[in-house]
Amino acid sequence: MTQRSISILGATGSIGSSTLDLIRRNRDKWRVVALTAHSRVDELASLAREFDAELAVISDEKRLPDLRDALSGSNVEIACGAAALCDAAARPADMVVAAIVGCAGLAPTMAAIEQGTTIALANKEALVSAGDILMSSVAENGATLLPTDSEHNAIFQCLAGNSSREVRSITLTASGGPFRSWSSEQLNAATREQALKHPNWDMGAKITVDSATMMNKGLEFIEAHHLFPVGLDRLRIIVHPQSVVHSMVEYRDGSTLAQLGPSDMRVPIASCLAWPQRMDTPCDRLDLAQIGSLTFEAPDEVRFPATRLAREAVEAGGAAPAILNAANEVAVEAFLADRIRFTEIAALVAQALSAAMPPPPTTLAEVLAIDRDARRRASDILERV
Ligand code: NDP
Ligand code: MG
Repeated sequence: MTQRSISILGATGSIGSSTLDLIRRNRDKWRVVALTAHSRVDELASLAREFDAELAVISDEKRLPDLRDALSGSNVEIACGAAALCDAAARPADMVVAAIVGCAGLAPTMAAIEQGTTIALANKEALVSAGDILMSSVAENGATLLPTDSEHNAIFQCLAGNSSREVRSITLTASGGPFRSWSSEQLNAATREQALKHPNWDMGAKITVDSATMMNKGLEFIEAHHLFPVGLDRLRIIVHPQSVVHSMVEYRDGSTLAQLGPSDMRVPIASCLAWPQRMDTPCDRLDLAQIGSLTFEAPDEVRFPATRLAREAVEAGGAAPAILNAANEVAVEAFLADRIRFTEIAALVAQALSAAMPPPPTTLAEVLAIDRDARRRASDILERV
């Protein structure tokens, strides 16, 4: 059997761990090239040993001596820093899993695209900040982008190679998060612990807060616009609290195809790992009789303004989506550090977007400069709060 080689950027995170869980069950099929993490040295070192990785990269340079100690006596090559992340992403591999959280994953994702390989993309913030540039690079380098985000993976499966001309609309489903039925007054007092308790999914902290504000769906709306360019007016969002239907495609003849599955990220990850075939997973089977009913409701953009902010940002285009993403990253971090209230997250993003817009970026360096400036401005606004 021919082995395929794989690198995982963000190996210690929620998506990274789910990916490695599937690889662990199919050890003979995969050879691990590079694994990366930001600061969790012990977890990275233990994964690098277990999977016999060629290379382990820690992006926080201060942690290099710890990584060296943790991997002493092994054959694993080690490196640190932002440039080493890009080198790891550029190292030849049949598949690169882009699972770093935030805009920090943008340059490494671009490096993976430039090697013209297959990328399983979880890092939605990269597409939000630099969608046009990344998608042009995918085309120029003959890379293959497989969406790992459950909704986009569902859409990818439902599109099944059909041209966008056949599509009448694409609907992203949203769980509505832990605060779906909360009043504005309750939302104002929502705590970090409450926001971190997602009803259906077990994920990293940043995306869990994004799900609570519904910014996650806003980011996914922008992500869908780049992955499936059917026109913004054909993209919809619907709240579906059971998270069973992961998204749907409506065709011009009136047929709607949906993908259903358990709320387990190993399902969409497996669909990327095995694409264009299928593989076994240990995930629970969908028991619709036990679930009983599937419900749907319109999103409420008064209590959850984040989806509106994201739609306006992608309609405005240029630098706006990168600013939206950067301000949101700063705001979520501040909320997680108990510095701002839950409802101030969207307010901070709105304020960042109301400042004068820089010219539209045309290169990755320009996007990264916009991201840095927007973070600085958002931090300044926070200082004044
Ligand atoms: P986690 O926070 O669980 O993991 C993030 C990973 O990125 C970790 O390996 C972390 O390293 C690394 N990392 C964090 N900051 C940096 C940085 N500045 N530079 C380099 N590496 C960094 O996140 P998730 O796995 O939940 O999410 C990853 C991406 O996938 C996000 O973009 C998210 O939106 C997307 N996604 C996640 C889903 C999920 O179910 N979790 C579902 C759909 C999409 P360390 O451990 O050392 O901090
Ligand atoms: Mg999703």
